[in-house]
Amino acid sequence: MIIMAIAFGASGYYFVNYVFDSSMEREVGQALDESSILQFAFETAALNIPSKYDVLQDSAVEEIGVKLEASGQGGRLLRISDEERKALYTSEGFVEETDFLAQIDAQTRTYQIVQSKDRYYVQTGSTIDTLDRVLYLETLKDVTDVFEERTQGFHIYRRVTVLMLLCSSVIMWGIAVWLTKPIRLLTKATQKMAEGDYSYRAERISQDEMGQLTTDFNRMANALEENVEQLENEVRAREDFIGAFSHELKTPLTAIIGYADLLRSRKLDDETHFLSANYIYTEGKRLETMAFRLLDIVVMKRSQLELATSDVAELFDYLKEMYAANEEYRLDIQYAPGQICAEVNLLKSVLLNLVDNACKASEPGNPIEIRGIRQEGGYLFLVKDYGVGIPAEECKRITEAFYMVDKSRSRSRNGAGLGLSLCAQVLSLHHSELMIESTVGEGSCFSFLIPDSKEEDHA
Ligand code: ADP
Repeated sequence: MIIMAIAFGASGYYFVNYVFDSSMEREVGQALDESSILQFAFETAALNIPSKYDVLQDSAVEEIGVKLEASGQGGRLLRISDEERKALYTSEGFVEETDFLAQIDAQTRTYQIVQSKDRYYVQTGSTIDTLDRVLYLETLKDVTDVFEERTQGFHIYRRVTVLMLLCSSVIMWGIAVWLTKPIRLLTKATQKMAEGDYSYRAERISQDEMGQLTTDFNRMANALEENVEQLENEVRAREDFIGAFSHELKTPLTAIIGYADLLRSRKLDDETHFLSANYIYTEGKRLETMAFRLLDIVVMKRSQLELATSDVAELFDYLKEMYAANEEYRLDIQYAPGQICAEVNLLKSVLLNLVDNACKASEPGNPIEIRGIRQEGGYLFLVKDYGVGIPAEECKRITEAFYMVDKSRSRSRNGAGLGLSLCAQVLSLHHSELMIESTVGEGSCFSFLIPDSKEEDHA
């Protein structure tokens, strides 16, 4: 704004002065021309005056002066002086200026600008050489209009400048507000994020660099929100894990401590003694299993698998062998021959867990179907039972550590809710996942696909 004000002011001043200078030049030219005409008219008039003497009389000069002034239609002011520069004729209202008269000489035509009261004049001076006399002729031309025009010009220009500055201030303010709006929106978004509101996004209102910055900022906010959410989930999962873990420890420990106390404090009959010792043993076993499984999960999280190609028959034969002596449940095993790329021992434990869960959920005598199906992209393992089933909303959570659908039922069957968590861990190392389909009262089907290895595909 300051630069604009200076630029407007300077250009206005230069423009008005330029107009004034050219007008003055024109007025001065006219005044000098008029002076020459008067000089010539005087000389002509002097020659025409009938005279008794050869020398021009002062009275004749005055007479010619009156005539010359009258021929100017009222606006002409002049002064004629003699050799001693004494005024012989002076128009009424002529501005007395003696210094200028002294400067007039025969060779040059001089002029100056004079001011009298509120009026301005161009004063010209020239010499008249006639009838053996050298006289000095001065004229005054009123140029007040030119000065007034200049004052008027400055006045108008000042008003225009102020008006333009006001208008441009409003426009510039508008532009500044419009240009900085994305920055304000971004600032608001950063403040919101600093306050912990990671879901807030800045609105993109332009397609320029600021718009791009807003998009980038929002992308960064998305990534940040995801990371924070992930961290929060991890923290929550860890807290849940610790809570569930201590809870699972508490139950067997309470039983062990209770029965141990009973054994040491009283003399019991043989049967009660055996039952108490048996409780301590089974609960101790449960704790042992839990400790091993937990250890497996922790080790699994950190380990890198060494996958090897093996025949699926090895897995199914193992299952058959494990349940050969079990007459309670009927395992129905059918599988297509095939090769898989996996860590077989870990897959054995996955299948064993699934079959074990299926047995726990089923009534004795119910069939448990185990299938191996060759599919495009991998080999599908399937364990299906006709047991109690799992409610749909629980299916998502049963792979969480210590999660049990029916706690008392699971505990009574030596479960601690760690088996499926371990399975999920093993399968994720094999780039696979556990798929669960279940209907309450009808049974469940657990399946997973071991993908073909890349080298195998190649072959
Ligand atoms: P657990 O050691 O208690 O068996 P898991 O992690 O193997 O722990 O299983 C978690 C829970 O999922 C079990 O407590 C059980 O309630 C439920 N579950 C697992 N498999 C089945 C199944 N085939 N049918 C019904 N419920 C099942």
